[in-house]
Amino acid sequence: MSDNLVLEPGASVASTARTDAPPAILMDRVNKWFGALHVLRDVTLSVALGERVVVCGPSGSGKSTLIRCINRLETHQEGRILVDGTELSDDVRALDTIRREVGMVFQSFNLFPHLTILENCTLAPIWVRRMPKAQAEELAMEYLTRVRIPEQAKKYPGQLSGGQQQRVAIARALCMKPKIMLFDEPTSALDPEMIKEVLDTMVSLAETGMTMICVTHEMGFARQVADRVVFMDRGEIVEQGAPADMFENPKTDRLRLFLSQIL
Ligand code: ADP
Ligand code: MG
Repeated sequence: MSDNLVLEPGASVASTARTDAPPAILMDRVNKWFGALHVLRDVTLSVALGERVVVCGPSGSGKSTLIRCINRLETHQEGRILVDGTELSDDVRALDTIRREVGMVFQSFNLFPHLTILENCTLAPIWVRRMPKAQAEELAMEYLTRVRIPEQAKKYPGQLSGGQQQRVAIARALCMKPKIMLFDEPTSALDPEMIKEVLDTMVSLAETGMTMICVTHEMGFARQVADRVVFMDRGEIVEQGAPADMFENPKTDRLRLFLSQIL
């Protein structure tokens, strides 16, 4: 693991994707509907261990639904999803395994407002992983240090800036020692001056070799860390490829239009 928390601007993170190992995530012709609305259309996606995938696309294209299906915050109706070799199903034990292995960070932080930063980070390790309190606190302080806010441990979420709260949310997810981290637009609720501190934290996490799927429109971040960019529109994966290829040589009008709107 690297202790280097901030990269030089523009430096890219070397790929850690392991194509020789079974995929961390495998989605095979996944379909999902909300009532009559077909929100995921034959989505097939394989993410290698250690790979970093950025998912982008217009609002309403199914990006959140896609990643929420991976940790079963939503259920799909057709196709298969395997996480670290375990198929998602209604089997409670399978679900337990997956929830432990997959960490998630949301746009809106979702910290518990009545718990301190430290308590937010130790809650799941103590109650889900059955970790002794002292050990959970030590681990939490280690991750709060990695996201550079150990001094905030005794405060409550409301006393922190948005950028700090989002870094706590990342530390909290890491305290469960996940194998895979999912991010759903983690910087889109932040003021511009706080976006960089959260992206820097995500870049340093990428450097550790974490498997990551990030829904984001931060294309600088995508260029710096993504092994692959996946472009979704209307529930479909329309195009995917290396960031530079996708941004400089979009093959479809849909991606060209999308890029012209965000860049
Ligand atoms: P994105 O994250 O790309 O903006 P979403 O995955 O949130 O897209 O949404 C995809 C589509 O599914 C949208 O049309 C949205 O309105 C719809 N949708 C999302 N969640 C629900 C839900 N819980 N019930 C009904 N429709 C939903
Ligand atoms: Mg979304």
